[in-house]
Amino acid sequence: MNKKGILFVITGPSGVGKGTVLAEVRRQKDVYFSISATTRQPREGEQDGVHYFFLTREQFEQKIAENGFLEHAEFSGNCYGTPAAPVDAHLEEGTDVILEIEVQGAMQVHRSRPDAVRIFLAPPSYAELEKRLTGRGTETEEAVRMRLETAKHELTLAPEFDYVVINNTVEQAVADVLAIMQAEACRAQRVTLH
Ligand code: 5GP
Repeated sequence: MNKKGILFVITGPSGVGKGTVLAEVRRQKDVYFSISATTRQPREGEQDGVHYFFLTREQFEQKIAENGFLEHAEFSGNCYGTPAAPVDAHLEEGTDVILEIEVQGAMQVHRSRPDAVRIFLAPPSYAELEKRLTGRGTETEEAVRMRLETAKHELTLAPEFDYVVINNTVEQAVADVLAIMQAEACRAQRVTLH
């Protein structure tokens, strides 16, 4: 019988380094990385269908109405959602899937997919997060302020998750995430003995 893939959800405040850590995890592990839909404007260098599916609000709402999202949330004035069909197709064929999403969406996944493994990536401190988000230079001052406000609340939700990884150094955080993935694959309920 075909073994199903494991659904991993990686969340954490904006600027914590989810993208950097996951780029490295992806290099080292054969997983399907979900491509989200968003209503925000593309940043320089971002391509439709590669980094995100860039949708209008009408297109996004249409997809919600069709039940096309595994989860969706509003973040900093824009909508973000995980298209359900490609995620389910990969899980069915036995490939592990990673969602990189913000905290509200990650909480929703817990309700709709209780078997998902949810990892919260945390900064070493709030001051460090502030420094990283400001230094990134991808957002306006107002957007940075909004994201930092949201982050304050998000950090209080970390204990609700299955695992917390502190992103002190990228190398250690990547090692931690890979170790969690390895351990989850060996969970007794996922292993079939022949
Ligand atoms: P950004 O605008 O910086 O690309 O993303 C903002 C936040 O939205 C990040 O925390 C990112 O992880 C999150 N995000 C990206 N895709 C999704 C998604 O499909 N669903 C949810 N809930 N959040 C997402």
